[in-house]
Amino acid sequence: MVPREAASLPYDWLRRSLQTLHQAHWHRQVQAVEGTGPVIQRQGQPLLNFASNDYLGLAGDSRLAEAAIAAIQQFGTGATGSRLLSGHRSLHRELECAIAAFKQTEDALVFSSGYLANIGTLTALVGSRDLILADRYNHSSLKNGAVLSGATVLEYAHGDLADLETQLTDRRQTYRRCLIVTDGVFGMDGDLCPLPGILALANRFGAMVMIDEAHSTGVLGKTGAGCAEHFGCQGQPLIQMGTLSKALASLGGYVAGSADLIDFLRNRAPSWIYTTGLSPADTAAAIAALSVLQQEPQRLTQLHDRAQFLRQQLDQLLSSLPGDTLTRLPSDSAIVCLQVPDAETVVQLGQQLQALGCFVSAVRPPTVPVSRLRMSAIATHQESHMTQLVQALGQALAQTLSRR
Ligand code: PMP
Repeated sequence: MVPREAASLPYDWLRRSLQTLHQAHWHRQVQAVEGTGPVIQRQGQPLLNFASNDYLGLAGDSRLAEAAIAAIQQFGTGATGSRLLSGHRSLHRELECAIAAFKQTEDALVFSSGYLANIGTLTALVGSRDLILADRYNHSSLKNGAVLSGATVLEYAHGDLADLETQLTDRRQTYRRCLIVTDGVFGMDGDLCPLPGILALANRFGAMVMIDEAHSTGVLGKTGAGCAEHFGCQGQPLIQMGTLSKALASLGGYVAGSADLIDFLRNRAPSWIYTTGLSPADTAAAIAALSVLQQEPQRLTQLHDRAQFLRQQLDQLLSSLPGDTLTRLPSDSAIVCLQVPDAETVVQLGQQLQALGCFVSAVRPPTVPVSRLRMSAIATHQESHMTQLVQALGQALAQTLSRR
């Protein structure tokens, strides 16, 4: 018999691994947040909220809540089965048609999360004889889906069309199919992918393109349909994935594209086939969010005004600081990031900002290569909220820099 102490040995590496995370200031913990919108509470403390993806300020909207409650009353709390068996509801189809109309595509399919939409689409579309060319800064779900697909995965330098072209020239012919995969808005940076250039290259080399519109759905484009609308690329052959969990304030993911693509995914995407359908409440809330966005397009202008105001205020603050302490990353979305030299400083700044009443995400490796403060605008923020944040950051920086 194995002695009791020896039996625990196979798990000892967990504690050692956690110690390493602590030493590197990479260890993370969760803290509950109460409320939604520009002002939330954390541990009883009211905080200005710059850490959510609720870009349109809809997570607390009573119209979404009422739609969700009505759906629970009519359809129950769970879908109770996979869509191909017993879990398909008329609401699912209603949402898929609404998404297809919003995205101006032939059809759409909703998954139980954005993460699952990416995994399912990538594993269905390509396999061991194929090539994925992926932007180096792509989201974890795209990276994991690419690996799971069994295709050869090569990364091109972030947003670099010349590098993408070189890799297509060198490698495209060796593989059966090629899929170029990119985030639309990069969630930890705030910049946009060069979609028109990517589509032109894909056309030249006979490649498919998949764009992740998680941070651009309800954010970019005249009607909020995302990067494809922003760049005027809606009619082009494109696989558009997005989430219902950010600007649309619900849960779930979608893929929008040609009728063939959607029919194929319904038959071949494992993370759609072998999982329970989206809950009635989430489905109804997403339908309501799309309808609110259509009725209140001014939310999009408000969102961009607030993000632009924040960028201007931050640039003013940074220009008054000595040297290049912090760098603001280029951004054309609702996400604004300040790169901070090391993980310890970013954690300190995040804590100081919280003490000063502002909730900002301190993002560290391995999520990003270089630590950063990630701030996001909400359409319902006031300019005064942005001014308070920048003042607090000025104070936090003064404290941090004086300790160096
Ligand atoms: N893609 C990107 C770019 C994301 O940022 C996220 C979520 N952070 C996802 C996909 C996954 O979406 P979901 O949260 O709906 O699973």
